[in-house]
Amino acid sequence: MTDQTLDHVTLRCRGCQTAYPPGLEYVCSRCLGPLDPEYDPAAVTARLSRDAVQAGPRSIWRYAPLLPASPGPGDLAPGLTPLVPAPRLAEALGVPGPLFLKDDTRNPTNSFKDRVVAVAVARARAFGLSTVGCASTGNLAGATAAAAAAQGLACVVVIPADLEAGKVASAAAFGATVVAVEGSYDQANRLSLQAVEAFGWGFVNVNLRPWYAEGSKTVGLEVAEQLGWSLPEHVVVPVASGALLTKVHQGFGVLADHGLVERTPARVHGAQSTGCSPVATAFAAGVDEVTPVRPSGIVKSLAIGDPADGAEALATVRRTGGRVEAVDDQEVVEAIELLARTTGVFGETAAGVTIATVGRLAARGEFRPGERVVALITGHGLKTHEVLDGRAGATVTVRPNIDALSEALEPLQPGLAVTG
Ligand SMILES: *Cc1c(COP(=O)(O)O)cnc(C)c1O
Ligand SMILES: [Zn+2]
Repeated sequence: MTDQTLDHVTLRCRGCQTAYPPGLEYVCSRCLGPLDPEYDPAAVTARLSRDAVQAGPRSIWRYAPLLPASPGPGDLAPGLTPLVPAPRLAEALGVPGPLFLKDDTRNPTNSFKDRVVAVAVARARAFGLSTVGCASTGNLAGATAAAAAAQGLACVVVIPADLEAGKVASAAAFGATVVAVEGSYDQANRLSLQAVEAFGWGFVNVNLRPWYAEGSKTVGLEVAEQLGWSLPEHVVVPVASGALLTKVHQGFGVLADHGLVERTPARVHGAQSTGCSPVATAFAAGVDEVTPVRPSGIVKSLAIGDPADGAEALATVRRTGGRVEAVDDQEVVEAIELLARTTGVFGETAAGVTIATVGRLAARGEFRPGERVVALITGHGLKTHEVLDGRAGATVTVRPNIDALSEALEPLQPGLAVTG
């Protein structure tokens, strides 16, 4: 059976530019560089238009001409998440122009990882693999496990043993085999590499990585469409491996290449936590190499000490005139609360990193009046709710009668009217 979704796709080495036929190769045999899918522009032009996209499915698959796969039965149809204006948050953070949240908590397993998994698993099936999996900092485990369950594939997820309980539970619930490695994410990732070779599995972010990363592009594509086919002046992206940041920018570029948006300057900013900030550190030092670190702190979803696309992300930020900031755990927790209270969106620690970074950039005067700022909210707060323990706002415990309630409410806050 020929696979038409790959007719117009080649894999090309990011290092030496050698071309490979699409397959399970993921590193260049000549220089060990990573491989990226490349599309025949004429084939894309023939299929891609604003009208075709808008008439397409309400998911990432509306961008089918720009994706190297097509969905099979059981696909969870992630994507086309809301882009919501956040005026009260903008005011609180001192952002002078319009601030938007790209709310990827609304994906099937509540993080943006459902996008990358949808593409990688579609490719795994087309390649005839029956076991899929991943090395995960948390959200990827749940997304991969859910997609495998929905499509009847076996699933193995490899995680560092110290992950948040909610993230482990959301992978285990879908019937995946959860392997908790006594070590860091980077060690779990190295073990996955060996396991993939040994057992012939399809790991979405290992041997399926060239395809996986393409799913991240859809965030950029959707943002531009949702801004009325225009590019935002700023986008603020949380950085773990750096793939999301790189691909969001590529998404903007490819829409301009094909005339769906005007090629206006879009500054791409990166957000990391001080517990794991190899890209922010390289940015601040003005160097091109990203030096690996040993992660610590509460922001586990971004805890990749040796980011595969770190140098690429750094180059993208510099090329667009953006910045990479690192914010501490205290700022992250405060930003999660501020986001929730001013927008009704409960984000996880990565969202806290992004929102605290928006605040930093605003304070530095990076945003001018009228410029549109898009912040990517990549995962749901219920998965990391433990970071708010002991800080939960106004919980009052009362005996079940109205006098007790009235007494308890009185000193609380003026917004709650207690009369009589
Ligand atoms: C994985 C992840 C990211 C970062 O993705 P990369 O492509 O690895 O940089 C951001 N936010 C959340 C919630 C994630 O799970
Ligand atoms: Zn090469």
